[in-house]
Amino acid sequence: MPINIPGLLAPFQLLIHPRLVLPGLSVKDIRQIDFAALKRAGYRGAVFDKDNCLTIPYEDKLIPELQEAWDECRETFGKGNVLIVSNSAGTYLDAGGIQSESVTHHLQVPVLLHTSFKPAYSCISAIRTYFSSLHKPIRDDELIIVGDRIFTDVILANRIRLQHRKERTGFLGSVFSCAYEKEGTVSTEKESLLKAEGASKVIRLDRAGGPLAIWTTGVWKREAMAMRWMEKGIVNAVEKWSKPPGGEPLDTSRFVKRVLKEEPVKKPNVVEVLLARLRKG
Ligand SMILES: [Mg+2]
Repeated sequence: MPINIPGLLAPFQLLIHPRLVLPGLSVKDIRQIDFAALKRAGYRGAVFDKDNCLTIPYEDKLIPELQEAWDECRETFGKGNVLIVSNSAGTYLDAGGIQSESVTHHLQVPVLLHTSFKPAYSCISAIRTYFSSLHKPIRDDELIIVGDRIFTDVILANRIRLQHRKERTGFLGSVFSCAYEKEGTVSTEKESLLKAEGASKVIRLDRAGGPLAIWTTGVWKREAMAMRWMEKGIVNAVEKWSKPPGGEPLDTSRFVKRVLKEEPVKKPNVVEVLLARLRKG
């Protein structure tokens, strides 16, 4: 198992920006994501993790249960606008790009080739280069980033969000933005976002200036369970103890599909079986 240095260093950044670990939305798996609602809110592109999000770890085929949701996602965002960013396929571990080709074949979307593991800044640059080079370029704040790990996928998304905000507002703007995050007012944020993005009110309030981090909490094959347990504990602690940014929170619940719970099939007990036989007899 290779050591993910960027992932190991990420916790140090949390001392300054603890809320980097918080996803914008948590779902069990991608079947709960309402891709059409995301598109209506202005999201145009998607970055997906592979292992334990779309495939069994180190396998290249889509988990069969996810086929319908995956087809819907690709149709909604369109060809080329969905990208796999994995810490296995497409990295230096993927000699000759054989695995990334196989994944592209099975999942029908491109795999990003990158030199550093998520959540490295060089990986972020590679993601930006990909989406900005599309025929219709996709901005940071038009992306959703979906994955099952906090220290790689969620921090990657939130790092882009942080960078995006700083680039949009400049140094002084970022200083005031940070001040806003702690103690500012709704109107201040609204004004700065409007000036920075020149976006319509509806789109601005829907996307809140950066990629949307979507955390898939379901585990298809047990892997790194101690780390997952620790990640979940950190998320809970940060949610509990850190102060949320002011302003109107982004309502992401409308991006979750209302999945009807299947009623468990009740097995008849011995008495019920005997009664049924007597009735038949
Ligand atoms: Mg994963």
